Amino acid sequence: MTTDHRNDPSTLIRRMGLPAGQGRPVVSPLQTSVVYDVESPDMLDAIYEGRESGYIYAREAHPNADLLARRIDAMEGAEGGIVVGSGMAAIAAMAMGLCNAGDHIIGGDQLYGKSLKLMREDLPRLGLETSVVDVSSPDAVEAAIRPETKLILLEVVSNPTIRVADIAGIIALARTRGIKVAIDNTFTTPRGFRPFEHGADIIVHSVTKLLAGHSDVTLGYVVAKTGEDRAKLLAASQTFGLTASPFDCWLAERGLFSFDLRYDRAEENAARLAQALSEQAGVLRVLYPGRADHPDSARAAELLAGRNGNMVSFEVAGGRDAANALVRAMPDLPFAPTLGDVGTTLSHPCTSSHRGLTPEARAAIGITEGFFRVSVGVESIDSLIAEFIAGCHAAAQVAG
Ligand SMILES: *Cc1c(COP(=O)(O)O)cnc(C)c1O
Repeated sequence: MTTDHRNDPSTLIRRMGLPAGQGRPVVSPLQTSVVYDVESPDMLDAIYEGRESGYIYAREAHPNADLLARRIDAMEGAEGGIVVGSGMAAIAAMAMGLCNAGDHIIGGDQLYGKSLKLMREDLPRLGLETSVVDVSSPDAVEAAIRPETKLILLEVVSNPTIRVADIAGIIALARTRGIKVAIDNTFTTPRGFRPFEHGADIIVHSVTKLLAGHSDVTLGYVVAKTGEDRAKLLAASQTFGLTASPFDCWLAERGLFSFDLRYDRAEENAARLAQALSEQAGVLRVLYPGRADHPDSARAAELLAGRNGNMVSFEVAGGRDAANALVRAMPDLPFAPTLGDVGTTLSHPCTSSHRGLTPEARAAIGITEGFFRVSVGVESIDSLIAEFIAGCHAAAQVAG
């Protein structure tokens, strides 16, 4: 007679598993197991060789990451994407998985701050050549292309200056030269822009932002169009250990359920807030892609087709003193340098995301002491506008 030690109450060390019964849980279970108990060595072979599906070790794959990845795949019209520990992990997987020492990468000069640092400092340290150029101009991109150019990394709408890249022009250039184009779709999200439909080869996301949407997880996503590239991304993620936490994946999946609703409401709020800001004394300019006064309004209309998103930037007169007055007059609004939260957040790039730049370098891209970026959330628009009017009045008073 054999004894099932797992059901022997004196054997506390052996796991028992959840009691089974009729009825399946409606909510996706959170699977924190790092290791999986497999039936035999033959079965291990079968799983590693892809003849059977299954999990073995969580750094390589786990169900909560896969479930989240399948949902983002569906939103992007992609297949086989992977979820990793952060947006930067997604970009790192791309660079380390798809490039070799000696390859050259071109990036937009207004990429997310840490992406820029990666381009300027870290990739060169590892033997990759990089150039950062103005991606509103295909000529600037063309001038930077070398025989070794492998990849071009773009964001559709730049942060915090809200410029719109010439995606069509750059993809056309890249096509004829066999260069891959990667789009960081964090800002635009698949509701605003679907990179594969525009000819991109790779999509990356900081899931941390709008997709998860509650400022309580750090995650990234990366997918490539070809199976060969996807295998390289997965291998890089597994080897460099870019793994996502199951709990973060579980929270992000929950966040996604309301993504469409949050996005639509935040976008509607953003357009109205942009208009209200433009009517305030002391506001020098407002940047929102849907506005006729936007510097790239024609390109924005073509690429975004009216899905202008939730990000608004604006500039008040009066320098740092006015900026302090504005923030202090809105004590209930989180003054926090993040974006994509369900609630509105305000940031001051000069003292946060772009503080590492010289004042001259900031001025060159229009980031002055009076420049603010708003990640618009889903609150009642009337109270939000009232808060910003109070802030703008306080700034205008200081500015004189
Ligand atoms: C935040 C952000 C990233 C980095 O994402 P993390 O999840 O913070 O690592 C990359 N690109 C853009 C556009 C971002 O806003």
